[in-house]
Amino acid sequence: MANVLKDLDFYQIDELLSPEEKMTRDSVRSFVQREVIPNVERHFANETFPLELVPRLAELGIFGANLQGYGCAGMNNIAYGLIMQELEAGDSGLRSLASVQSSLAMYAIYSAGSEEQKQRYLPAMARGKLIGCFGLTEPDHGSDPGGMETRARKDGQGWVLNGTKRWITNGSIANLAVVWAKVDEGITGFIVEQGTPGFTTSDIHGKFSMRASITSELVFEDVRLDERHHLPNARGLRAPLSCLTQARYGIAWGAIGAARSCYQCALEYTKSRKQFSRPLAGYQMVQRKLVDMLTEITKAQLICLRLGQMKDAGSMRPEQVSFAKRNNVNAALEIARMARDMLGANGIVNEYPIIRHMLNLETVNAYEGTFDVQTLILGRDITGESAFD
Ligand SMILES: Cc1cc2nc3c(=O)[nH]c(=O)nc-3n(C[C@H](O)[C@H](O)[C@H](O)COP(=O)(O)OP(=O)(O)OC[C@H]3O[C@@H](n4cnc5c(N)ncnc54)[C@H](O)[C@@H]3O)c2cc1C
Repeated sequence: MANVLKDLDFYQIDELLSPEEKMTRDSVRSFVQREVIPNVERHFANETFPLELVPRLAELGIFGANLQGYGCAGMNNIAYGLIMQELEAGDSGLRSLASVQSSLAMYAIYSAGSEEQKQRYLPAMARGKLIGCFGLTEPDHGSDPGGMETRARKDGQGWVLNGTKRWITNGSIANLAVVWAKVDEGITGFIVEQGTPGFTTSDIHGKFSMRASITSELVFEDVRLDERHHLPNARGLRAPLSCLTQARYGIAWGAIGAARSCYQCALEYTKSRKQFSRPLAGYQMVQRKLVDMLTEITKAQLICLRLGQMKDAGSMRPEQVSFAKRNNVNAALEIARMARDMLGANGIVNEYPIIRHMLNLETVNAYEGTFDVQTLILGRDITGESAFD
């Protein structure tokens, strides 16, 4: 199979990266090439996640890579983004595991947890000894998480949690779930450990997308939690939304990896496949598609680089992340569909990575706020009018 992880740097963006950022990217890239690509189609076919990669991801400093202290690597946000890009060039499911662990579960504890909770969970999560998931979506509330029905009521010194979360990445393989629930004062977060009485999980099967990723339903029936499991600084919907901003940032970078893999594959394929008198790459319509792909990937790279600079400078706004997620994932999905078409019949088989990326990107487009939800966020930002309700 073609090496689909080669450089694609039409605008010499590498020159804007530091040696450390390039080194981080290159080490994750070779890890993906060596340890992910050879097995990923099998995992996708079998609906399994390659759990044996978790210690390797931890060794590479990937879990909580851009968090400071608590055993985390403390990398800057561009290095973190480049990691997400390389993981997703392998598979969106692999990037999802790393995103959920780092930007959702660890970040929730990092930003809203007590010092004791941070000490207790974050170093073990950075080492991959504990896997986390993030339960926000419910069967009847996805784009409008504020409508959630999961409830926690005060009971003496502790809490009793009831509700159902659905579509939760890592759900059944996680050692702990960060769960969002309504209380009398509004919305808050809890850490629910696997094995807590009343907490059960079941996996969702029959997915045509994200098959190399575990997606589960979480059920909480009179789950008793003490104050040690309540995130003291998680107040209001703003708390889970701030985690989503972190995760969307990684998604915007990740999508470039999937798009690059599809582009490289389509380029090599059309250069070698002859129809009529010439290689496909010699026909104008094929070149137009390749040039469109190159253009969109280059634009996405520039958006991410600038977004990362703003994040590192502390000036990035959530709406700018929505812009990047909306643009880059949509572009990646279009690129994957185009690439699939360019391979003809070969575009539908798992000898090539394209159909897998294409199917995965349908989820990437939907989760953490669909394309249309990002549009509403941006529309509200530029007009001052909310069109959500
Ligand atoms: C594989 C996978 C993994 C996931 N992992 C997680 C996870 O780890 N944790 C978690 O909490 N969630 C997770 N999700 C859930 C995901 O975030 C939701 O699916 C997503 O937010 C969309 O919600 P929904 O599916 O309920 O769609 P809906 O909210 O029902 O939306 C359906 C359609 O209606 C549109 N729509 C909604 N509201 C409006 C409006 N006001 N105006 C116009 N159009 C609108 C949407 O854009 C969409 O096209 C995951 C989903 C998948 C598929």
